[in-house]
Amino acid sequence: MTDHSDSVASSPAPGLPELQRRLASFAAARHWQPYHTPKNLASALSVEAAELLEIFQWLTPEESARVMDVPDTAHRVTDEVADVLAYLLQLCEVLGVDPLAALAAKIERNEHRFPAP
Ligand SMILES: [Mg+2]
Repeated sequence: MTDHSDSVASSPAPGLPELQRRLASFAAARHWQPYHTPKNLASALSVEAAELLEIFQWLTPEESARVMDVPDTAHRVTDEVADVLAYLLQLCEVLGVDPLAALAAKIERNEHRFPAP
């Protein structure tokens, strides 16, 4: 397993509520809330997911599995993951969706829908 510890912050990552609060404060301080409609946030989420995909677009499966071994590429992947999560968390905030509860419910549904053989 590859050690990616140098590509993340050394201090413990804050929880989702703290991150959502900081994202909301960042947007509010710049008067960006009018632009943060559900439609705009869903669009931005899709664009950022495409930017993440672009990094992998022409890689072989083997190259894609080693993408975090190249520091510049690892940084790009980490940066796009942050962008995707930022817009997903902001979308959840404006829609009143608890992302962790939604994921837990989805996993539970899938466990029943696709039982292990
Ligand atoms: Mg981006």
